[in-house]
Amino acid sequence: MVPEPAPGGAVIRVVEYPGELNPRGTLVLCSSCRASRDWLLLETRRRVFVRCRCGYEWEEGELDIDFFEENFSYADRSWGDAEQALTDLGFGGEFAGIYFN
Ligand SMILES: [Zn+2]
Repeated sequence: MVPEPAPGGAVIRVVEYPGELNPRGTLVLCSSCRASRDWLLLETRRRVFVRCRCGYEWEEGELDIDFFEENFSYADRSWGDAEQALTDLGFGGEFAGIYFN
């Protein structure tokens, strides 16, 4: 579950990552559905999370803020509500088992 941004508080940045994640030589797999690619990266308070199409999300300690910054170019969309953002991006869990890219 994504923490709701507190009023005036934390901003969550997200970026789609269609490929495989392979930090330090270990392939990242979703422990819920075993997907191996097509991720959403989330960053809040300099902590990086990975979210799967199935809706499973976890903090990925092997991915640091520098990695996120390398993949995040600029904010082209914004949402006031985290849940709405995830639904709009196709990461609300309704596409479990489906690769878009
Ligand atoms: Zn999954």
